[in-house]
Amino acid sequence: MSYEHIQIPSSGDKITVKDGNLVVSDNPILGFIEGDGIGGDITRASMRVWNAAVEKAYGGNRKVHWAELFLGEKAAGIYDGNYFPAETLDAVKDLIVSVKGPLTTPVGGGFRSLNVSLRQDLDLYACVRPVQYFDGVPSPMKKPEDVNAIIFRENTEDVYAGIEYESGTPENEKLAKFLREEMGAEFFEGAGIGIKPISAFGSKRLVRKAIQYAIAHGHDSVTLVHKGNIQKFTEGAFRKWGYELAAEEFAAETISEAELWDKHDGVRPEGKIVIKDRIADIMFQLMQLRPAEFSVIATTNLNGDYLSDALAAEVGGMGIAPGANMADHIAVFEATHGTAPKYTNLDKVNPSSLMFSGSMMFDYIGWTEVSALIASAFGKTIKQKIVTYDFARLMDGATEVSTSAFADAIIGNM
Ligand code: NAP
Repeated sequence: MSYEHIQIPSSGDKITVKDGNLVVSDNPILGFIEGDGIGGDITRASMRVWNAAVEKAYGGNRKVHWAELFLGEKAAGIYDGNYFPAETLDAVKDLIVSVKGPLTTPVGGGFRSLNVSLRQDLDLYACVRPVQYFDGVPSPMKKPEDVNAIIFRENTEDVYAGIEYESGTPENEKLAKFLREEMGAEFFEGAGIGIKPISAFGSKRLVRKAIQYAIAHGHDSVTLVHKGNIQKFTEGAFRKWGYELAAEEFAAETISEAELWDKHDGVRPEGKIVIKDRIADIMFQLMQLRPAEFSVIATTNLNGDYLSDALAAEVGGMGIAPGANMADHIAVFEATHGTAPKYTNLDKVNPSSLMFSGSMMFDYIGWTEVSALIASAFGKTIKQKIVTYDFARLMDGATEVSTSAFADAIIGNM
């Protein structure tokens, strides 16, 4: 594949997929997208940490060959005003694994969110957010160390499908008439109308990914989070399809919570993953009161949106929470916060969200030594109370440092 502005390093090897698995050489090419606003600062800092960790872990026997891809404002400067060049999309597919900083989404009409476009165009159907506590990170929880979960949020359906009709428009009135006259629905005159599609296909592929992850990483449960008591044929169906999928495809590895109590007196049989479900509102309580009971969480789009931010707050907030958007194999790892434009190029913000998204990326390609090194060096740095401004304002006796100095401290602690 040839590109106009993207340079694929000839020194590295592209990642491929064989028999459903990634094939990664010791010299893989990984894509990176700097992003807008603070993207430059956090990418520069994270890149230094990632490269140092790879060097430290493998002593020069393995190396990442980075290919810069362009989206957002940087792309507009290079591609004559085009914020979303087609060749970037091609390269993300071609390289399979990439990491990206945040992108600006102007508020108001006429501009589709670049993040949403990327997710839709590449069908990145799972938004994956691990939530893990590091000793010393400021947290509102009494026992934040009990929070250790990974959320698989469905990324393509639900109220995010964009099927909405504004009050007073002919489309809205046509649909309202149909709903009232032909379907017997009752609702207030002039209501805005949104449609919430949730399919067996979309639910099952998300739950499949969550269960595969639980198996690969030795987790003991997968919790389906839904609002099925009220929205029976969407949220309730997600729950039903989740259990169905587990029974159809993972009967040997999983057991439902009902069966656990019916046949095993609540004692988990060795090696089995318990598939359970919780109603969304209760789940928010449980993740504050008894978070240790949950590990892998699979949920619908809107629930997942709320839940991932709420859980991130329990272990240090958005400045530190990592994430990824994934299809079956293509994965884009990304900072979960936005572009924080007021801090652009001030070398001030916390790079950890992007840095840990990179850690997830290294785990994904099987270079787990790299993420382990970063986690341990980060832990040491926090214990030394060397932090960026966001943590400094929540900690007593902290030394506030810049983005780049924070990266230096982490590298020094490897
Ligand atoms: P934001 O950029 O996440 O910033 C909100 C606040 O969060 C910041 O003012 C800052 O708080 C804190 N924050 C964010 N990143 C931080 C970091 N790395 N370190 C420390 N603190 C951090 O949210 P926003 O202001 O609502 O959105 C700005 C733009 O980003 C919008 O165009 C939005 O659409 C876009 N956005 C993009 C993505 C994405 O690309 N995935 C995600 C969300 C938003 P303080 O002011 O308290 O210091």
